Amino acid sequence: MKTLKSILVFMLCCTLSLSLIGCTSNEKTEPTQPLTKTEVIIGTVCTISLYDIKDVAILDKAFTRLKELEDILSINKLGTELDKVNNMSGKEPVKVTNDTFTVVAQGLKYSKLSGGALDITVGPLVKLWGIGTDAAKVPSEEEIKEKLSLINYNDIVLDETNKTIFLKRENMIIDLGAIAKGYAADEVAKILTENNVKSAIIDLGGNIFALGSKLDGSNWKIGVQDPEDARGASIGYIEVVNKSIVTSGIYERYFESNGKKYHHILNPKTGYPYENEILGVSILSDKSIDGDSLSTTLFALGIEKGLEFVNSQPGVEAIFVSKDYNLYLTEGLKNNFHLTSTKYKIKI
Ligand code: ADP
Ligand code: MG
Repeated sequence: MKTLKSILVFMLCCTLSLSLIGCTSNEKTEPTQPLTKTEVIIGTVCTISLYDIKDVAILDKAFTRLKELEDILSINKLGTELDKVNNMSGKEPVKVTNDTFTVVAQGLKYSKLSGGALDITVGPLVKLWGIGTDAAKVPSEEEIKEKLSLINYNDIVLDETNKTIFLKRENMIIDLGAIAKGYAADEVAKILTENNVKSAIIDLGGNIFALGSKLDGSNWKIGVQDPEDARGASIGYIEVVNKSIVTSGIYERYFESNGKKYHHILNPKTGYPYENEILGVSILSDKSIDGDSLSTTLFALGIEKGLEFVNSQPGVEAIFVSKDYNLYLTEGLKNNFHLTSTKYKIKI
């Protein structure tokens, strides 16, 4: 299932259509049609579309890399490196590959920068709520309290020289759900670039990397999904060349209990999903790992603090979609966001 996070969809522009994204190899069609492959990996639907060099071998390399990353970074699979780090919490440091070390170091960086609004040691709480699984439930106060005591990014010990990760207290769990897809998108972009691809779309469950430009040299047009509308209905679009666009929102993964919706971005201070004015927040950045980290971080911080935070980060832009149908844009997007919906207003 494509995560409901497909907030970002491609604006249809003559040759590029939503229906193309997600279909299988189509070598025989017109030259402007991409060579596309879709597979479910890292817990989401991953689609890669090559527009210039339509080489199945390149697609295969990219998907092999995605599987490799799933095998080391997932916490939903037994025996992954991350699983080992978590199982050894309170016991001993675990030596890991550069991939795991890099992603955890990045997660720690944003955990610190956000003052714990994003905290990659949120794992025990994520497991307790089980949002996005069949076992989703509202936990008891006691259960929440117990898990909260296990969350603290300051208890992650990284040894750069020996490439080891240690969690100081037993039962701590690192969850990379907020950032791993971003890293994976960057790794795919790297492989495509190394293979001279200059026009491609990487879509990892809504984590989009628009590589290079469109085949005719023009900008990609990436639509921002209307969170309240059917998938594909957009609020407007951004024009990009070689950028990552990532969104976090409350309408993607959630469950309902007693008429109340509980979404999947959890407040490590209270133990409950963040309650704020945001429907979704999209990040435009060069690296998708930054976009993914920031989208979750800004969601957690809320609009006011989130805008302040993102303005302090060089080279990244954000769009917040609020529950009262306002759009809050960072400076760099004010001239590059094309509003197409009449329901939303750009807040100046
Ligand atoms: P998506 O899961 O759709 O990619 P995000 O990138 O915003 O959306 O990541 C949400 C995921 O991050 C959750 O499913 C969970 O695994 C993890 N998570 C939830 N709350 C936090 C938090 N406060 N800090 C760090 N990670 C979190
Ligand atoms: Mg994220």
